[in-house]
Amino acid sequence: MPWSESNDDEVFDLVAAERQRQNTTLQLIASENFTSPAVMEITGSVLTNKYSEGYPGKRYYGGNMVIDEIEDLARSRVCELFGADHANVQPHSGSNANMAVYLAVLEVGDTVLGLSLDHGGHLSHGSPVNASGQLYNFVSYGVSASDERIDFDQMRDLARHHRPQLIVAGATAYPRQIDPVIVREIADEVGAIFLFDAAHIAGLIAGGAHADPVPHADIVTFTTHKTLRGPRGGCVLSTDAFAKAIDKAMFPGLQGGPLEHVIAAKAVAFREAAQPAFRDYAAQMVANAQALAAGLADHGFRLVSGGTDTHLVLVDLRSFDTELTGKDAQNACDASGITLNRNTIPDDPRSPFVTSGLRLGTPAVTTQGMTEAQMPVIAELLARTLRAHDDPAVLAAVRADVAGLCADYVPYPG
Ligand SMILES: *Cc1c(COP(=O)(O)O)cnc(C)c1O
Repeated sequence: MPWSESNDDEVFDLVAAERQRQNTTLQLIASENFTSPAVMEITGSVLTNKYSEGYPGKRYYGGNMVIDEIEDLARSRVCELFGADHANVQPHSGSNANMAVYLAVLEVGDTVLGLSLDHGGHLSHGSPVNASGQLYNFVSYGVSASDERIDFDQMRDLARHHRPQLIVAGATAYPRQIDPVIVREIADEVGAIFLFDAAHIAGLIAGGAHADPVPHADIVTFTTHKTLRGPRGGCVLSTDAFAKAIDKAMFPGLQGGPLEHVIAAKAVAFREAAQPAFRDYAAQMVANAQALAAGLADHGFRLVSGGTDTHLVLVDLRSFDTELTGKDAQNACDASGITLNRNTIPDDPRSPFVTSGLRLGTPAVTTQGMTEAQMPVIAELLARTLRAHDDPAVLAAVRADVAGLCADYVPYPG
């Protein structure tokens, strides 16, 4: 074979270092998870070699007989998992899934309602630095000041006033369930299409731990790598009425050749998520997030909306330390082996680069096998870190304790 005989130690050593980091530090980023060895094996398979532009039975290249079976399997498994009419499993990412939906159902300049970015919405819901915000006229709804939950009265008022072609529900930093029935009513009242972006919560929905948007929304997009615990990628579910337009928008509209190695790994993840044990996993993610929230509140952290009913907790740091920014808190946590991200809180007085909040999630630690018993320990480790955020000796001591905790829950031994 013509491939290099010598190992590429440079890259392989870096991958080993990253595996070591994942095994020995706490992963609390709400959009991350530990995927299964089967998913990783398939992602690294010979399927990466194949070009398969088009769809099963309608490809532009030869040699796709096996690939067609794989993509059909992924589509039928995900339709069964979520009870959907149609699926497109080709999106390279959640953002691409959303862009394909916009291309399919909107004209440039059309009006869309989405959750404001600084209240928990995603870049692909109309941010001015994202193509969605540049091509379409996004109008933002937000959370109400009183309870920090989505203000459906405001959504209805904005819908009546702006008559949007599309209403997008779904969030990237919102700890509460989003009721798809209310959004459906508002969409019907103004004749809008209803897209539910379930990127974060697809695993909660599959596991029965979040209200199911599929019977109510026209289109549901999601990522496969967050709570659903599959390979990095996206997916679009829709009613039959939108199937053709979405497929056409995805290819040839937005993407070229699909990543069939990732699509096969998605099929593996869809089967894993259909097992009874995945329902336990979804419920445990929520129980852990609630235990983590309670532990953090005990240490004086204010929780946005007062708590959580998902896998995610949003912390307002100001009640703990008025001077401490999200940026400095994230850096201190990196030094103590706690991986999380800074995040704006609703109406944050600081910039999105600095912020006054932290976002934490339980998908990864729950996959590792941690339960409610470990969440107060994590809250304590975080509080110790942030109380002494500029004391390297304390951060080193916390890091050792983090490694001790993680040693009992190693995700990728060997
Ligand atoms: C993560 C996320 C996306 C985008 O997913 P990528 O794969 O990072 O492009 C879209 N929408 C929401 C609500 C998300 O949380």
